[in-house]
Amino acid sequence: MASNQEDNNIGNKTIPLILDGTFFKIIRTESENVQGECTTCKRRIKGRNGSTTNFLNHLKTKGHSIQGYKEYKNK
Ligand SMILES: [Zn+2]
Repeated sequence: MASNQEDNNIGNKTIPLILDGTFFKIIRTESENVQGECTTCKRRIKGRNGSTTNFLNHLKTKGHSIQGYKEYKNK
C-alpha cells in the first residue's frame, strides 16, 4: 500500500498563507529566511519563515489590498 503523500511544503515547513502565491510567491528559502515576490508590484521582500510581518507591512506601506488579504485569510 503506497502512501499517497502530497508534499508541497518547503523544507517540511508549512507555507504561510500570505506566501501561497496569491499575494506573494516564494522565490527562495534559506534556513529560516524566506524571500517572496509581491504578485502586485513584483518587488522582492525578505522575511522569516513563520513570521509574515515584513510581507504584511509591504502590503500596508505600498497601499496594496490588505483588506483583500484579511478576507482571504478568513475564508
Ligand atoms: Zn507590492
